[in-house]
Amino acid sequence: MGKLIEHTFAVPTEVEPGILRVTLPLPSGPRHVHCFLLRGEDGWTLVDTGLGLAEPSWEDILAQVDGLVTRIFITHMHPDHVGGAEAAVRATGAEVLQGRLDYSQCERVWGSTDWPERIADWFVLNGVPAPVAEELIESGHVFADFVRFAWNPTLVEAGDEIDGWRVVATPGHSDGHLSLLRDGVLVAGDTLLAPITPAIGLYPQSRPDPLGDYTETLAAIAELDPRVSYGGHGETIQEPAARARAIAVHHDDRLDRTEAALATEPRTGYDVSHDLFGRTLPPIQRRFAVAEALSHLERLVVLGRARRDEDGRTVTYTAA
Ligand SMILES: [Zn+2]
Repeated sequence: MGKLIEHTFAVPTEVEPGILRVTLPLPSGPRHVHCFLLRGEDGWTLVDTGLGLAEPSWEDILAQVDGLVTRIFITHMHPDHVGGAEAAVRATGAEVLQGRLDYSQCERVWGSTDWPERIADWFVLNGVPAPVAEELIESGHVFADFVRFAWNPTLVEAGDEIDGWRVVATPGHSDGHLSLLRDGVLVAGDTLLAPITPAIGLYPQSRPDPLGDYTETLAAIAELDPRVSYGGHGETIQEPAARARAIAVHHDDRLDRTEAALATEPRTGYDVSHDLFGRTLPPIQRRFAVAEALSHLERLVVLGRARRDEDGRTVTYTAA
């Protein structure tokens, strides 16, 4: 449990009065995820729950906190946020609150056995060679087998209030992503991160233009102008509006690079992912690269800067 890299794991740490941050280790990616405890009238609201695998137990973590956890709020259905929900329920007896759209996608993806096959078919449709897609299925099954979530949560929606916090829709990183806002404090999940930028990918059966959704989310945050934002990874953001504008510029640049990768010759999302993210990626990273290339290609189509064609076997894009 000692100090690893920049974080002290599993020790609730006050980031401001009434808000504790609990950082848990991750085996890959950013190597850590932040959960938060928000003090309320009747107890704490726990926001996000980690992977639910080899981390220190919620019993041990919460033994360090005064008072009870009375509810658990999930920002979005990615495994590093929803995975520990069941274990947190066992440790607290608290109810889980999760977005309606987010939970329906959570069930469809992690609650089904054929998701790795469905996503592999979809990657083939977007130009991924069959052997690479096969690898994705294998790694997908290994992955999906260990993802947990809490069944039948209490469903919430944007505009609801949770212990004085307003539920805000912040789609983009995932379709049903929700954040919490109170008194200029945004608990943002993976909507606003620093120094990394949240992944914005297109996936099967998701909303058609996630980067368009995310662009609106960033504009809304800049407009709301919260005092501070606490994200699921990385650093506390002291100037959320400025960070939102900087991330928007990052995607504008990537849109320009995506457009530059197109020509009159049709190209797939898989092809374009090589221009954006290089040629040598392990399968799991290629999967994110293709999804990210596709979210930018679909945005360009919406903006009239690219053309999309589908012949039933392959989806391709050309310069507009
Ligand atoms: Zn995350």
